[in-house]
Amino acid sequence: MEFRSEEIEGKRIHDLFVHQGKMNNRRLWVPGPVIVGAGPSGLAVAACLKEKGVPSLILERSNCIASLWQLKTYNRLRLHLPKSFCELPFLPFPNDFPTYPTKQHFITYLESYAKHFDLEPAFNQEVVAAEFDKECGFWRVRSKGLKVMEEIEYVCQWLIVATGENAEEVVPGFEGMDEFLGPIIHTSAYRSGDCFQGKSVLVVGCGNSGMEVSLDLCNHNAHPSLVVRDSVHVLPQEMMGRSTFGLSMQLLKWLPVQVVDQILLLMSRIMLGNTARFGLTRPKIGPLELKNITGKTPVLDVGTLARIRSGNIKVVRGIKRLMRNAVEFVDGMVENFDAIILATGYKSNVPTWLKENDLFSAKDGFPSRPFPDGWKGQNGLYAVGFTKRGLLGTSLDARRISDDIEKQWKVKAVQFTATSRTSH
Ligand SMILES: Cc1cc2nc3c(=O)[nH]c(=O)nc-3n(C[C@H](O)[C@H](O)[C@H](O)COP(=O)(O)OP(=O)(O)OC[C@H]3O[C@@H](n4cnc5c(N)ncnc54)[C@H](O)[C@@H]3O)c2cc1C
Repeated sequence: MEFRSEEIEGKRIHDLFVHQGKMNNRRLWVPGPVIVGAGPSGLAVAACLKEKGVPSLILERSNCIASLWQLKTYNRLRLHLPKSFCELPFLPFPNDFPTYPTKQHFITYLESYAKHFDLEPAFNQEVVAAEFDKECGFWRVRSKGLKVMEEIEYVCQWLIVATGENAEEVVPGFEGMDEFLGPIIHTSAYRSGDCFQGKSVLVVGCGNSGMEVSLDLCNHNAHPSLVVRDSVHVLPQEMMGRSTFGLSMQLLKWLPVQVVDQILLLMSRIMLGNTARFGLTRPKIGPLELKNITGKTPVLDVGTLARIRSGNIKVVRGIKRLMRNAVEFVDGMVENFDAIILATGYKSNVPTWLKENDLFSAKDGFPSRPFPDGWKGQNGLYAVGFTKRGLLGTSLDARRISDDIEKQWKVKAVQFTATSRTSH
């Protein structure tokens, strides 16, 4: 395989992609950091770097920014947390956006964010390998063009991983999966309950997505059953006229997490009743402590519980096996279903392409060190958006990373100026 070396500004690399059509393999030197992923995290860190005068290059496997939001989410989705907790650095949400922006609002916000900071990711570039070359002291980042048959190796000093906690769908295997005659789809392919009217649909997984998809199916006159295998904390989205999340953050400033958990559980009991009565038993550990220990997010109820209570959504136990038109559950019950929707979540894809064994765990593709220490690795490697703390965590990471790189960038600039002075 032969490579041509070119030294070029980050932004102009993108133009080359677009105009050169079919290409052979190339090697490009990128003066600033290479960012992998153009979701909210990739955009946030690129914007923070730009504010400090550091150019960067974003590589995105998809053909748009925020591909998770644009291509893999259902229509009724809104941000689960109030907008004030979801804005990216340096650009608040517009005042006329609702407290919980819709999916379309959020996409519009991200598009104007990219425009505001003049961020132009290189699209259709899937990073398939990245490795630190000890001999030359740089990262070698290999991408495959998805549209034109090209392979490019980027050589850079800093590599920022922004591929997200939700890069790949988790699809569980069930006995009899091939036998089931109806569609089996992941929530990433679900848009609305429109095409499920009158159908019996099994929703597998009771996180925020599973609960919301069940509600959506109900609203489209389908008959959903929700598989609840484990215990789960369901909290009202708002308490005492404030978002539960905002209230929790406020209380945590004054009280230990266990006390805040007791307050949240008491309020939930008053507002939602005993969820165990509907088959949703609570974990022994409180919602915030559980989140801190395992990263498991409590479900914020947006109306699903009322539909469970009224019997419109049936709660069922774990799946034993699938049959042609039916599902057998672990408690021996057998029921007919027309379709199955897997709300079984996502996973990181970092171990499939990043070759290093310090910052990221090979087991789950998340930083090995717990929050807040999982943003920086060795040899100029960084992680943004892997804190299990949503967009709030993203902003924190983005600011830290840009501060850190800025210092190194300035040192390089001083060295470069000194070298050019002596050579003249
Ligand atoms: C249904 C749903 C609702 C959510 N609601 C909220 C919410 O209300 N509030 C909140 O804070 N968080 C929410 N989240 C969490 C969500 O993950 C974050 O909001 C946000 O999308 C994370 O941004 P990110 O850039 O880290 O990851 P992503 O948005 O996943 O972006 C990562 C990007 O990297 C690209 N990529 C992946 N692998 C490669 C590769 N090898 N090469 C090149 N590009 C690659 C992907 O195509 C993608 O565009 C929600 C998630 C889901 C699934």
